[in-house]
Amino acid sequence: MGIRSIGARLTCWYTGILCVTLLVLGGAAYGLLTYSLSHDLDAALEGVAKVSAEQARTEGGPFLPRGVDELFRHFFGFSPLNPSLELFDTRGRRNLTRPGSPATRLPLSPHTLEQALRGASTFETIEGAGPYPFRVLTMPVIKAGRVINLVQVGISLESMYQTRRHFLLIMGALLPFGLLLAAVGGWVLARRALKPVDEMTRAARRLSGENLADRIRETGTGDELDRLAQTLNDMLGRLDDFLGQMRQFSADAAHELQTPLTILKGEMEVALRSPRSPEEYKKVLLSSLEEIDRISSLVAGLLLLARADRGVLRLDLQPLELHELLKEVAAQMHLLAENHGVSLDYGPVEPAVIQGDREHFQRLLLNLIDNAIKYTPSGGRVTLSLRSDGQLVHLSVADTGMGLSPEEQKQIFHRFYRAAGARTQSGGGAGLGLSIAQSIAQAHGGRIEVASTPGQGSTFTVSLPVESTADIPSAS
Ligand code: ADP
Repeated sequence: MGIRSIGARLTCWYTGILCVTLLVLGGAAYGLLTYSLSHDLDAALEGVAKVSAEQARTEGGPFLPRGVDELFRHFFGFSPLNPSLELFDTRGRRNLTRPGSPATRLPLSPHTLEQALRGASTFETIEGAGPYPFRVLTMPVIKAGRVINLVQVGISLESMYQTRRHFLLIMGALLPFGLLLAAVGGWVLARRALKPVDEMTRAARRLSGENLADRIRETGTGDELDRLAQTLNDMLGRLDDFLGQMRQFSADAAHELQTPLTILKGEMEVALRSPRSPEEYKKVLLSSLEEIDRISSLVAGLLLLARADRGVLRLDLQPLELHELLKEVAAQMHLLAENHGVSLDYGPVEPAVIQGDREHFQRLLLNLIDNAIKYTPSGGRVTLSLRSDGQLVHLSVADTGMGLSPEEQKQIFHRFYRAAGARTQSGGGAGLGLSIAQSIAQAHGGRIEVASTPGQGSTFTVSLPVESTADIPSAS
């Protein structure tokens, strides 16, 4: 089973990497140490051999090594253990041993002798002469082009082996200690660095559909985890808002449906309480029909919005002469405007053709013009205009009505929202008209904007691409 904590995995990884690195570095250092010790030792042996050979050559006759200890100390920098310096004759016999004779007598192999007689020096490592091997240099003493003697210089490798052993001991002791320190330090650091992740996990567990108010603590360091916490908090904020809107929407929808249903029920109950004349029943039925119309228009509006939200609004796209449609709808609304004492006029109306669903656009225009008449007091004016700038068609419905505050302008496209002025006014709708108009405009690749001054009037402008091809398929 894998390690499930990132902190533990990170610690394992980098302790492992550190271990490999230390082993490689240690191995390299060990190799370098061995090489440099051997190299120095051979150079010192050569120095001793050369001086001794020179002495044997110039003095001739029996070799009397003088100041051997000083000689070794001079070249080695210290007094080596068991140094050996001997002279052999050309037949390989020991010629003379230094005074106080060395404890070890190093052999002279036939091969080395042969090499020396040819004038060549030989380095060799001789085992078995003592507890540690010896490093030996055999050098010929040449006089007048002839080999007259052989100088053999040797030294025990004990101190070199000891140095290497010490090195290995120190490495062996430091490596686990260093690794342990790195592992503990790494674990603590990883835990500290990943602590915010644990907090995020705990905070996320506390969240539920009912409780989205909690937020993840931000450290304010601006690092990756802090940015993640900010992003999650932003997302939670949006989710919380969205859930709030959904709850509000359900409550508003239920409320809007309940009102006509209560009226309907009340009227019917009253009608059934005592026998009525056919005219009275007819009156009740007509009034019930009115309420049923209200309910069905509300349900149709909700259905349209739900379809638009899901991106499945059915559009029967056709080239639509918007100027013609505008005149048609205006003609339908004339009577209503007259009844309200509002004049319905045209501003500049340029011909404009778009790709659109006729029925939906009719509804959009009806909603906008109906609002303009509804929220304009008697004596006011509603002006319809249409202009095209080549890319976009701008259709506006301007009124001289009650207007909207900037705060209200931000909210009027929300579902079921009604501004303060509309709530006190009789005959107001459910607050879905503008949401529906906006969904229709958006489904055609357009948008609706409002410009308004409280007390002076509002202008709603629908902007649509000329010959717009809506992104929603017309298939049902
Ligand atoms: P409603 O069915 O209440 O008219 P809408 O979605 O059409 O719903 O409009 C939402 C709110 O926007 C209205 O209740 C009203 O307060 C405000 N509103 C819409 N059109 C106008 C307008 N032309 N002048 C002033 N207020 C308006």
